[in-house]
Amino acid sequence: MTYPTQPEASHFIDGAYVEDDSGAAIPVIYPATGEIIATLHSATPALVDRALAAARRAQPAWAAMTGTERGRILRRAADIMRARNRELSELETKDTGKPLQETLVADATSGADALEYFGGLAATLSGEHIQMGEDFVYTRREALGVAVGIGAWNYPTQIACWKAAPALACGNTMVFKPSETTPLSALKVAEILLEAGAPPGVFNVVQGYGEVGAQLVEDERVAKVSLTGSVPTGRKVYSAAASGMKSVTMELGGKSPLVIFDDASLEDAVSAAINANFYSTGQVCSNGTRVFVQDGIREAFLKRLSERLKGVKAGDPLDEETNFGPMVSERQREIVEGFIAKGSEEGARLVAGGGRPEGAGFWIEPTVFADVEDDMTIAREEIFGPVMSVFGFATEEEVLERANATIYGLSAGVFTRDLARAHRMVAGLQAGSCWINTYNLTPVEAPFGGMKMSGVGRENGQVAIEHWSQLKTVYVAMGAVEAPF
Ligand code: NDP
Repeated sequence: MTYPTQPEASHFIDGAYVEDDSGAAIPVIYPATGEIIATLHSATPALVDRALAAARRAQPAWAAMTGTERGRILRRAADIMRARNRELSELETKDTGKPLQETLVADATSGADALEYFGGLAATLSGEHIQMGEDFVYTRREALGVAVGIGAWNYPTQIACWKAAPALACGNTMVFKPSETTPLSALKVAEILLEAGAPPGVFNVVQGYGEVGAQLVEDERVAKVSLTGSVPTGRKVYSAAASGMKSVTMELGGKSPLVIFDDASLEDAVSAAINANFYSTGQVCSNGTRVFVQDGIREAFLKRLSERLKGVKAGDPLDEETNFGPMVSERQREIVEGFIAKGSEEGARLVAGGGRPEGAGFWIEPTVFADVEDDMTIAREEIFGPVMSVFGFATEEEVLERANATIYGLSAGVFTRDLARAHRMVAGLQAGSCWINTYNLTPVEAPFGGMKMSGVGRENGQVAIEHWSQLKTVYVAMGAVEAPF
């Protein structure tokens, strides 16, 4: 079976597809060819209101179910997603342009992992009992209420599930707004949750541009906002949420360092640098885009990297042999090309790529700059495309200071065979997710999120429960009440 790219309707509210053509048109473009594969409509303010009302109505009964019952529904949804992985992956490939080789293993499967993991945790949610002599205190872990999820375009299914799974496990209901660039797969997540037994209104999807997100964030019925997006959007959303004292999770951008010492396995370090810069055509928030290579092995690293780049297979993303896709949009390609031009202008040495292949679609070559200096634009700003910057360094102290000299703090990696040095380095790195001798592995069991400007809160792992629930403290007196008069 193949899913049609044109969905039944643009939005999924209260358990059903809903359309309203009066909303601005959202053309969905297949990035590999530039063809329009669907047309959706932005939600009108009335539809956004309807989605929030549905989520509000559904929330008390959903929270009143036992964790075991909610968890069973989430785990059933995970099973359905796995059973339909190929159809979901093909749709994700058409929506994002990412190669099927990737989407088959990293999108619906990752979403299913989150549904399964938080489905399992749902039954374990509990408070504590604190004895105070005869009296006692107990705590109740309660849902926050109606939550809003807002997603970026690079991992649409994964982002929807990484937010919905813990939110729903804790008894919240959700209105999710995908990026307008990739609106298709969140609708499938909504369909699957309903099929798995989630009551209507528990998970709703509304499409739209930034203003739909803004309306959602500002609504007083909303208790929690979880955004995956850029730092500028994060600032806006966080401030809007703050005025309503709403709880937030912000998963934002990065400019992460990948530090390779000269005792590292060169082959593994090159593999990690490839994964950290070219997977999903570089459109990954946690990418290690500042690759610091110790002076003794820098030329050997660049030589081996150039050889390995001959293995790039760009082409039809639906062909499972293809391992490198196009950029998600023309706009994103132009942004990345602007950074590449800046890199050359400011004196970095272009050692691979930099060009635009002929033909339709938003293709760009995997690009490597060497001799990058810390103050260059490509060293400081998030590019969000397949552009690797290679820096030299001499000592551990020097590289630690330079690695941390950024406003971002999402991720970092260290390659060395000296494990004491590896642990010393990660203790000093200002980053929420660090890897030793690997890069970009983000299993659902491991908390994920940023320090500094890269974010607030954590997704995944048991700690996510803290960000999707609140505690109520109950003091119980067993004796008489004393009063001064
Ligand atoms: P954007 O910040 O442009 O958009 C993110 C989402 O926010 C979109 O759905 C967008 O809608 C919406 N939005 C925009 N303005 C507002 C507003 N004022 N109020 C509410 N919502 C709004 O990010 P991109 O989609 O371009 O994604 C790329 C960025 O996401 C990169 O910076 C990347 O690092 C980051 N990212 C972070 C991850 C993490 O986990 N830390 C993971 C993946 C990506 P619309 O698209 O319609 O404008």
